[in-house]
Amino acid sequence: MTFEPISSVFDAPSGSEISVRGWIHRHRSSGAIVFAVLRDSSGIVQVTMKKGNLPDEQLEAARSVSLEASVEVRGHICEDRRAPGGREVRATCFRVVGPAEAFPITEYQSEELLLDYRHLWIRSREQTAVMKVKASVLAGARDWLREQDFIEVTPPIFTQNACEGGTTLFKLKYFDRDVFLSQSAQMYLEALIFSLERVYSVTPSFRAEKSRTPRHLTEYWHLELEEAWVDNRGNMEIQEGLVTAMVERVLQERKEELLMLRGDITPLYDIKPPFKRMRYQEAIQRLRDQGFDMEWGRDLGTAEERALTAEETVPVFITNFPKECKAFYMKEDDEDPRTCACADLLAPAGHGEIIGGSERETDIARMLARMEEQGICTGPYEWYLDLRRYGSVPHSGFGLGVERLVRFICGIDHIRDAIPFPRTVSRAYP
Ligand code: ATP
Ligand code: MG
Repeated sequence: MTFEPISSVFDAPSGSEISVRGWIHRHRSSGAIVFAVLRDSSGIVQVTMKKGNLPDEQLEAARSVSLEASVEVRGHICEDRRAPGGREVRATCFRVVGPAEAFPITEYQSEELLLDYRHLWIRSREQTAVMKVKASVLAGARDWLREQDFIEVTPPIFTQNACEGGTTLFKLKYFDRDVFLSQSAQMYLEALIFSLERVYSVTPSFRAEKSRTPRHLTEYWHLELEEAWVDNRGNMEIQEGLVTAMVERVLQERKEELLMLRGDITPLYDIKPPFKRMRYQEAIQRLRDQGFDMEWGRDLGTAEERALTAEETVPVFITNFPKECKAFYMKEDDEDPRTCACADLLAPAGHGEIIGGSERETDIARMLARMEEQGICTGPYEWYLDLRRYGSVPHSGFGLGVERLVRFICGIDHIRDAIPFPRTVSRAYP
């Protein structure tokens, strides 16, 4: 027997015979007839088992089957306005492949229970839709980057540098030494531009974020790029192109999933270049006008980012952050030396930061001075400083939080629902 995906029930001619297999998603029986909704990776379909259409013992098996059992069904495709999608399969053959115990997740469940049973909850329609969106987001990125001559590379996860500062590092024993889990591949990507010029990687990044916010995970997927011969302006153009390509790909491939997750998808069609640009100076002025107490040098928090983008329909770059709130490797802006040639990209409608990027410092003396100012010991960075000693070159790069973007695209409240097995301060199980 060959099995077709459930979605093909809705493409095949009415009346034709089909074999499908999947899991029991819903189930009820009334008198001589059993209704089940079957789910597979392509969708759901109603299946009816009626006395006389299939052997009695198969009808009994269908009547007593539990939710989430895996089954095979053969039958005829029939139009039925009451069925989801307007069609059903009238079974002539029904077989249980893997029976199921009473499923621990029922209709109304606490968030905690759903997280405890995450390995089962990821079968839900919403979770499935989010994972499909995420796959399209990544495929859209990879295809676009390839077209733009970027090479995908594979940086390490064990590292001895503290890229984003010490407080959010996970430290672990590495034989007789201490190492950290990587927070960013940036420095390794920088090393790779000297031969490959345009590189990117997709890796997990680890941040021991103690704050419980709806946008921080302790393990998240990080899409990072580094480009030789590109200044911060060019860097922002690459970000616009990339984000647009990712959103476009989802709109092409996953419209149905988006409709289910967020209802209105029209705002996503506004995500195209140019995005808005605003200097940090202007941002804090606006925030002050709205009553925020913002002094120069303070980084933007969640509330500030929300206030800045609440009315926006396109993403907004905030550029030229003060040097004191950004990392030592960011290049000073030639025209405004109090600031860095950098930009954070904020998603519209209050969603907050999805990308952080900058032009990188290329001059070793300036870099050493910044490190000293910030009290960073150079030891673990000797190899990184070498990149400024041997053929230093203007370059820029950025990091995009994949779950941040997926959360925005899907319109979901909490970032943990943008990853199948979320890791947060309070959870590393299942
Ligand atoms: P935030 O201020 O929101 O904590 P950040 O300034 O620490 O972000 P970067 O270090 O610039 O962020 O990291 C690059 C990108 O990685 C961010 O723009 C964001 O999309 C993503 N990111 C950072 N921290 C997390 C996290 N804990 N969970 C999920 N994504 C994250
Ligand atoms: Mg952070």
